[in-house]
Amino acid sequence: MKNMKILSMVVSSSIFLIMGSMVLNAQKNTNKNQFRQLYQELATPNNYRTATGAPGHEYWQQQADYDIRIELDDDNQRIYGTETITYMNNSPDQLNYIWVQLDQNMRAKDSDSQKTRTGQLSNQMSFRGLKRLHDDFDGGFKIETVKDRNGTDLHYTIVNTMMRVDLDRPLRSKSSYSFKIKWWYNINDKANQGGRSGYEYFEKDSNSVYTIAQFFPRMAVYNEVEGWQHKQFLGSGEFTVPFGNYMVRITVPSDHVVGATGVLQNGGRVLTSLQRTRLQKAKTSLSETVLIVTEDEAKENGKSRAMTKKTWIFKADNVRDFAFCSSRKFIWDAMGVTFGNRTVLAMSYYPKEGNPLWGQYSTKAVAHTLRVYSKFTFDYPYPKAISVLVGRGGGMEYPMISFNGGRPEPDSTYSEDLKYSVIGVIIHEVGHNYFPMIVNSDERQWTWMDEGLNTFMEYLAEQEWERTFLEREGPAYLVTDYMKGDKNFISPIMTNSESVFQLGNNAYAKTAAGLNILRETIMGRELFDFAFKEYARRWMFKHPMPADFFRTMEDASGIDLDWFWRGWFFGVDHVDLAIDDVKWYKINTQEPEFDKSLQREKRYSEKERFISNIRNKKAIPQTAVEKDESLVDFYDTYHPFEVTDRDTKTYKKYLASLSEEEKVLVNGGYNYYEIDFSNNGGMVMPIILEFEYTDGSKEVKRIPAEIWRRRNDKVSKVFITDKQIKQVVLDPFLETADVDVNNNFWPPRDKPNYFKVIKSRRRTFRNPMQQQKREEKEKEKLKD
Ligand SMILES: [Zn+2]
Repeated sequence: MKNMKILSMVVSSSIFLIMGSMVLNAQKNTNKNQFRQLYQELATPNNYRTATGAPGHEYWQQQADYDIRIELDDDNQRIYGTETITYMNNSPDQLNYIWVQLDQNMRAKDSDSQKTRTGQLSNQMSFRGLKRLHDDFDGGFKIETVKDRNGTDLHYTIVNTMMRVDLDRPLRSKSSYSFKIKWWYNINDKANQGGRSGYEYFEKDSNSVYTIAQFFPRMAVYNEVEGWQHKQFLGSGEFTVPFGNYMVRITVPSDHVVGATGVLQNGGRVLTSLQRTRLQKAKTSLSETVLIVTEDEAKENGKSRAMTKKTWIFKADNVRDFAFCSSRKFIWDAMGVTFGNRTVLAMSYYPKEGNPLWGQYSTKAVAHTLRVYSKFTFDYPYPKAISVLVGRGGGMEYPMISFNGGRPEPDSTYSEDLKYSVIGVIIHEVGHNYFPMIVNSDERQWTWMDEGLNTFMEYLAEQEWERTFLEREGPAYLVTDYMKGDKNFISPIMTNSESVFQLGNNAYAKTAAGLNILRETIMGRELFDFAFKEYARRWMFKHPMPADFFRTMEDASGIDLDWFWRGWFFGVDHVDLAIDDVKWYKINTQEPEFDKSLQREKRYSEKERFISNIRNKKAIPQTAVEKDESLVDFYDTYHPFEVTDRDTKTYKKYLASLSEEEKVLVNGGYNYYEIDFSNNGGMVMPIILEFEYTDGSKEVKRIPAEIWRRRNDKVSKVFITDKQIKQVVLDPFLETADVDVNNNFWPPRDKPNYFKVIKSRRRTFRNPMQQQKREEKEKEKLKD
């Protein structure tokens, strides 16, 4: 077998000492070592955020309470609102002005997101695409008044999607300020303008499903990290919002059914007694859903148009946002999920177009999500969680309510792919209740902190739903195509959400894969789960920053992960570890017979094999046979590979010099394998090896990533085995996102690469820039 060597092994610890000092010399390199601590990259710990990753003893956060009255105009698709915001300044600072977010201004005709939208024309264009180009929909906020609590106008300045309100007197630390805003805006049609919020119009029965969010001016976050987080809303970077208590009165046509964040305050007025009875029943139904509004009732409801109005009142405590849905098309079902002695309602609102898929799975997926996520974080603290069907794909999350897409064909059939996609979206969007609705990270700045953590949790929940769930992202092996792509179009995860290339792959898939690698491979489930839960609990109802996550994961697990954060979150290197060589050694016991046989083998056998090759090709005639007659006796008596008395004596002397322990080692018959690895991708990873022995048995060896701590590019390691190795596989379970597994085998084993031969001359290659554009287009439709 190739690379077998017999080692005249001098067993002495001095060898290792020499090796050690050589490595130390080699380490005198630059400071590019992946294992240096993240001192430059992370903010210095302080009294607000500690070095452990926990909130510090002086941690503070602002609070914004809202009292909102809105009216939904179903005929003209408009929303009119007035709101009183009570802003509590818990900071140690005095504020002369405050910033309010006007997210709807992203849909204003002259918005920066319209102005900065890039585009190209092509020879062929769809009408839909053309209409979008011509679209001059104005969905921006019309701010009518901004007044203080006495009704006096306040000076305000609108800066695109933000509004600065100048206070008549400074808002001191530990005091609050109330002011009133009156506004309205045109609601966007999701089919034409897209969007997280909007309405979907059903032509057949002239009805709309409204899923409404970011519909009211919301306070910006003020904190000790960013000051005011008033980075403009351009469309990708989602929302950064403070916690607060909400009282919201929603006036809609009286035949609409409304679902919303918070607890309904006036069920007696807006629900029928039958609906209230069914709702009570749902609370105690823990395994089956109960219909509050049946499909037949919803169909009947959608046939007419009420001329009267009803006001639904919702109250929500300690939420960072408020959203609602409204339609006369809604079927409504619910079931209970218990946490201790508390029952949470899992609910769904969907038009008949969602059945049979939605009736069967939606609410059960909501309940499942609450159970699984709670297990890994904290008990779901809110009284309900809702899934609303809108659109054909994607989804969007708000506290206690989420808007999810995907429904059967008009003939009620659906593919398996659609089923998993709908369940996956519901798990994802309901899961967002935990990240970022309760663990309230800054979405405008860091998409990964909510999307990445949530996609990871979604994967765990999907695995608990069904082991064969058709995953799209989550596990390490699903992210390799992205990671081996053109580095010009790959951003570090730690990039502002508006500037990220391939946001879906970057913030969702790569983050989730990274967390899976930490859990399954680097930390192990027990340590990971403990630390992850600790992070969730420490930052529940607070505002964490990236360092708080990184630090907590290390602090609670006792594992230094700086190298991992550096490579996976701050860098764009991919993983490509390789087996360069496997060298096989055995100890030469120096037993004379054995030693001589080895020498004989070396001298003749190898030569013989070489010569026979030449001879087989062409006979070489022997032209001379000469012998030195004076040495005839010597020829007869001396055979260089026979054991002499001297050899035996030397061996005995050697044996006598060995301790019992050393004898056992020398005669143990062990196989020594030196395996050389290289790191071709740059991102270091644990080395996971599967040895298959000649007797057919297998063994897995797991070596922590710290093996690369001195040299990040090449390492060698010695393995000792009784058995003889037949083959070695690196990363046998595809758990490290290694982008090229062809170099993971010894003996080398190549799988073929397949190429297609096509007749059409159409270019199938898509360059990364086009790919990026396509993704941006897709993203509008995809889940948030
Ligand atoms: Zn999401």
